[in-house]
Parts: sequence; structure tokens; C-alpha cells
Amino acid sequence: MKVYADNAATTYLSKTAKEVLLDCLDNYNGNPNSLHTDGQLTQEKLDEARGIVAACINAKNPNEIYFTSGGSEADNQALISAARANKAKGKTHLITTNIEHHAILHTMRKLELEGFEVTYLAPKANGIVDVDDVAAAITDKTALVSIMFANNEMGAIQPIPEIGAICKERGVLFHTDAVQAAAHIPIDVQAMNIDMLSLSGHKFHGPKGVGVLYARNGIRLLNVIEGGAQERGKRAGTVNVPGIAAMAAALKEGCDNMEANNEKVIALRDKLIKGLADIPHAQLNGDPVKRLPGNVNYSFEGVEGESLLLGLDNYGIACSSGSACTSESLDPSHVLLGMGVPIEAAHGSLRFSLNEENTEEEVDFIIEKVHKVVELFRSMSPFWDALEKGEKEHCI
Ligand SMILES: *Cc1c(COP(=O)(O)O)cnc(C)c1O
Repeated sequence: MKVYADNAATTYLSKTAKEVLLDCLDNYNGNPNSLHTDGQLTQEKLDEARGIVAACINAKNPNEIYFTSGGSEADNQALISAARANKAKGKTHLITTNIEHHAILHTMRKLELEGFEVTYLAPKANGIVDVDDVAAAITDKTALVSIMFANNEMGAIQPIPEIGAICKERGVLFHTDAVQAAAHIPIDVQAMNIDMLSLSGHKFHGPKGVGVLYARNGIRLLNVIEGGAQERGKRAGTVNVPGIAAMAAALKEGCDNMEANNEKVIALRDKLIKGLADIPHAQLNGDPVKRLPGNVNYSFEGVEGESLLLGLDNYGIACSSGSACTSESLDPSHVLLGMGVPIEAAHGSLRFSLNEENTEEEVDFIIEKVHKVVELFRSMSPFWDALEKGEKEHCI
């Protein structure tokens, strides 16, 4: 059996998105900036996509949608704009969390080198940030709060409407990386007081290499990519209309079917969580309820997540240890460490990210094989004995 359970790393293109993509490649291949008919027909496709994305997140105006090369670029542009555009006003402080995606964390590090001060809030043990901590961190110098909508590794959903309300009251810009939330959790940028938001096509069955930065009208965006006047002068480069149109179609499809998909996926998720709970010295990471519909993240002490992942891959199961970005190094996940998971447990973590295409049979198969590989690798671990006998509190 082949089971794809790594949808937080990337998803497969949906049938709808693929049809739109191919149609555009064949029939809307102009440059939307060209004045001839070919260009103008392509421009219409682009306008249509902008309207669809705006409607999916309830943006007031489609001109608040800027297309980018993906979630990373949108995150970079949001932070760099909010920081640099407000520096002259003495706003030199930024707030984020220590469990963000590296697109946020590495940009924050860069801004620190430019002289900005950054506060990295740690979430509670369940992976959720305390809104009081956000309020307490804001000072007269704070330009921006950037807190992700939902975490890509352990799935915890952050209190976005509450944080939005605080930021609005205190006159601070609020950005959220909603890459994992889009098409899974309802997003309303107006009701939630979100000033800027990032999306990525390939996390909701759209193509890779396309994303969105939403920026409320009135917010000053600075260019990350310099060049032509595309995207109202804020993002240079000939616009990838086929990719954008396919992304918009995938987002709309995901949002239109959100309730039905979630009902199914949450049942699968909870079945998997329950099915792995009897493994000794195993712990579910992230809030059990306020978590992404498809996310299951477990730590199994006494084993390496990477070994488990490869063991499961032999059975045809695709999952992840830590995040896809950290899986090339053996450092444990900054997210799990950031929420206080002991380093020994963080080393043995596995993430399954399910979607509506997964089945109960697949979940049963995962449960069976995880039991098998955890047992196998523990039987080879010199530390496991000591843990089992209670001679040690943690392994490794
Ligand atoms: C995948 C991901 C990104 C990066 O998006 P790309 O389109 O791959 O650049 C950013 N943030 C989160 C939370 C993600 O999961």
C-alpha cells in the first residue's frame, strides 16, 4: 500500500487546479502587461484569480492581493516592509514566536542585524501562544506582530482573532503566516483584524512556486524583488498567470468544501491519534483539540524520528520527522524545543499530515506499521532498556 501522509510538506495538485493550469498554458499564454488581445485575455484571468483569492479570505478589495513566488517570499516581504517602512518613526521593535517557519525566523534574524529588536515569544506546553504575553510584549516602539495562524509541525492553532484585536487596539501592525491554515480554517482578514497575511499554493492542492501576500490598503509595502511595475509596482517580474489561476481555483475548491473535508479529516486524525496512544513513552505534541484537522505529531522516546521515517517509507508510508526544512539536518525541531518538549523526545518525533484523500484503511495501516517500526528500532536502542526499567527519565 502507498500512503501519502505528508500534506503539510506539500500536496498533490487537485484535478481542478491541474485543468486550470493546463488551460492557461494552452490558451492564456500572453503577458498580462501586453496591450494586445493575447495579453488582455491573460490579464482577465489574473484579475479573476485576484478576485477569487480576495473573496476566500474576505479581503475588502482585490487590489489588496499581491501574488508572489510562494509563502516564503510573502513572509519576507511582509516583515521587511513593516520593519523598514516604520523605522524612521522610531518603530524598531518586532514581535514573533519561536515556533514560526524559517521564512519568518531567518528574516527576523536579518532584521536584527539591521538594528531591529525582536521579541521571540514561547508558546505554552500545548504549542499555543498566550495572548497576554503578546499584549505584554508590545511597547511604544513595536512596529509589527507576526504570529502564524497554525503551526506546520505540531498543528496548534493560534488565537488569531484575539491577537488581531490587541494589535488593532495598540496601533501595531499584525501579520500572520496562514500557509498551513488556508483551506482548512476559515479566514476573515477583516473580522480578525489581520493587516498582512501569507499563503502558499502548494499547501492546498495548488502548484508550487506561487503564493499570496495580502496587505490591507494603506499599508506601505517595500519591494523584495526589484524591476518592472507588476503587482502595482510592489513585486517585479512577469506574472505567473497559469500558476496563479490554478492556485486560486485550488483555494476556492478547498474553501468551498472546507466543512465536509474537515469532518472527514478530523475523524481520521483522531483515529490515528488514538491508535498510537498505546505505544509506551509516546506523547502527542500540540494541543489535542485546537489543532489543524490533518495534523498528528507524536514523539517516541528512545528512537530517532529519521529512522522511523525511513522504516515507514519502506512500507510505502510518506510522513515527516520535524519539518521538511529541518529533516536534512539531525538537529531536533526548533518548534518542539521552542514549546518545551525535552530534546530526547524531540529527536524521536514524527508528523503525519492527512487530507481528505486519505482513508480509514490507510490510517489502520499507519497505526500497524508505526507500532512495528517503533518496536524494531527500540529493540536495537541501548538506551531503551534503561528507560523502560525506570532507571532514566528520558532516553539518548
Ligand atoms: C510551507 C510553509 C511556508 C513556505 O511556503 P513556500 O511556498 O514553500 O515558500 C511558510 N510558512 C509555513 C507555515 C509553511 O508551512
